Amino acid sequence: MTKYIRFAMEPGVPVTSPDTHPSVRRGLLEEDGRIRMMNGEVTALNRVKLLPCVSPSKIVCVGRNYADHAKELGNAVPAEPILFFKPPSSLTAHGAAVVYPAMSELVSFEGEVGVVIGARCRNLKAAEAEAVIAGYTVVNDVTARDIQKRDGQWTRGKGFDTFCPVGPWWTPKEEVDFASFRVRTTVNGELKQDGTVGDMLFPVAAILEYVTAFMTLEPGDLIATGTPPGVGPLAVGDTVAVEVTGLGTLENMVVAQK
Ligand code: MG
Repeated sequence: MTKYIRFAMEPGVPVTSPDTHPSVRRGLLEEDGRIRMMNGEVTALNRVKLLPCVSPSKIVCVGRNYADHAKELGNAVPAEPILFFKPPSSLTAHGAAVVYPAMSELVSFEGEVGVVIGARCRNLKAAEAEAVIAGYTVVNDVTARDIQKRDGQWTRGKGFDTFCPVGPWWTPKEEVDFASFRVRTTVNGELKQDGTVGDMLFPVAAILEYVTAFMTLEPGDLIATGTPPGVGPLAVGDTVAVEVTGLGTLENMVVAQK
């Protein structure tokens, strides 16, 4: 399975650095931990700093895309997709810390499948959507639930720095069986979410038609497709792992805000 990663050659490079940063590289992670860079050079995973596997111009997220998740939070099942953004500044990498904000008392995990866009697109029909998908990755839509509820809209609750772990890699769509994906989230090894993408209210193709009816998507943009039931709180010191079966596992530790 092809594993596309991004990484930095020096440890001090900020995790949200764009591809234009002189230390940022893209490469293929091989089974033995070696990284083959696009220019042919080879390095090793333990010699670099892993970054988010994509560098999107925008992260478009679908809220309440699984009926049982909408219900578990006391919400109606939506009649059309609920969209929101997470800012690119919220991205973080596999293995990096999720910072628990001092101003929140209820931070939740949300394991999700991420869709990586491969081509600029606008006004897609659902039947055309497959052609613009480059591949898939794993996303944790970390949410300050108390702030989300208090604000009425979701910009703060979803948008803190480090609230969008993504990766460790993305894989081309041709190499995985999307229909077989399960989203399994554990906290400190305890299973919390185990959902199947077949339960999405709005399939990926319908989401892409809905989004591109008003907005241009660019290569590298990331779509977070919503979380299955089982969301719950995180605490400082927890390790949260989101597995998309057949794709990969995204793991992060929760740390206190300094
Ligand atoms: Mg979500």
